[in-house]
Amino acid sequence: MTATRDDVDHVVDVRGVHKSFGANEVLKGIDLQLRRGTVTVILGPSGSGKSTLLRTLNHLEKVDRGTVRIDGELIGYKRRGDKLHELRARDILRQRSRIGFVFQNFNLFPHLTVLENVVEAPVSAQGRDRAEVETEARALLERVGVGDKLHDYPKQLSGGQQQRVAIARALALRPAVILFDEPTSALDPELVGEVLDVIRDLSLDGATLVIVTHEIGFAREVADTVVFMDGGVIVEQGPPRDVLDHPKHERTAAFLSRVL
Ligand code: ADP
Ligand code: MG
Repeated sequence: MTATRDDVDHVVDVRGVHKSFGANEVLKGIDLQLRRGTVTVILGPSGSGKSTLLRTLNHLEKVDRGTVRIDGELIGYKRRGDKLHELRARDILRQRSRIGFVFQNFNLFPHLTVLENVVEAPVSAQGRDRAEVETEARALLERVGVGDKLHDYPKQLSGGQQQRVAIARALALRPAVILFDEPTSALDPELVGEVLDVIRDLSLDGATLVIVTHEIGFAREVADTVVFMDGGVIVEQGPPRDVLDHPKHERTAAFLSRVL
C-alpha cells in the first residue's frame, strides 16, 4: 500500500536527530511531530540550536543521525536496503521547493524585481507555467499588501515590505510547511506588526507554520504548540497556556522571566 497525503498525519516528523559542528554537538536527539494546519512556535536562548533545527528540516544542514520526513517524504536521503543514501542535488532542490523558508534577513534576490522574486522558484524548481505562476504571484503580493510594488527592487522597499515579499515568495511554492527563522528580529519595531499580521493571516487560513521568534505575545495568540529548546534538546512542549504560563521546567521559567 502506498501512502497518500491524507494518510500522513504529521507534516513534520523528526526522529532522533543529532547534529554536530566539529566537537560542538548542537542538536542532541530531537524528536518533533507536527500536524497539518498547526502553528508551532520554537523558543529558546541564543545558541540553543533553533536555526540549526529549522535548517535540518530542508537539508540545508545534513543530520549526523536520525531522520526528517516532510509530508511523509524522507528529506535528503533515500533508503536502499538498510542504508540511507544522500539524494542527488536536483532531488534535494525539488524537496526543498515544497518547504517554504523565511529568513531573518529576507534574502530576496537583489537583482530581481518583487514580482520576479516570487515567480522565479515555482518556474525554475517546480517547472510550472510562467504565465500561470505570475497571475498567482500578483494575487499573493496583493494579499500581503505589496501589490503596488511589483516592479520595485528589494532595496527600494522597507524591511517590513521586503519580509512580506519573502512570505509571498514562500507561499508561491505551495509549500507543505513554512519555516520562519526570527522573521521580525531584523525589523524596526514599528514594522514588526505588519509582518506578524501577515503570519497571523496565514495561520487563520490553515497553513502549517513553524516559527522561531521571541515575540511571546504573538506565540500566546497564534501557536497551537510552543516548543522550548535549550542546549540542543527540546526541554518541553505543549499549548501556550501550559508552556508559557505554567512551565514545568526551571530552564523554561528562567528563559521566560528574561524575555517577558
Ligand atoms: P540559535 O538559532 O538557537 O541561536 P543556532 O542553531 O544558530 O542557535 O546555533 C547553535 C550552535 O551551533 C551555536 O553554538 C553556533 O555557534 C553553532 N553553529 C551554528 N551553525 C554553525 C556552523 N555552520 N558552523 C559551526 N557552528 C555552527
Ligand atoms: Mg537562530
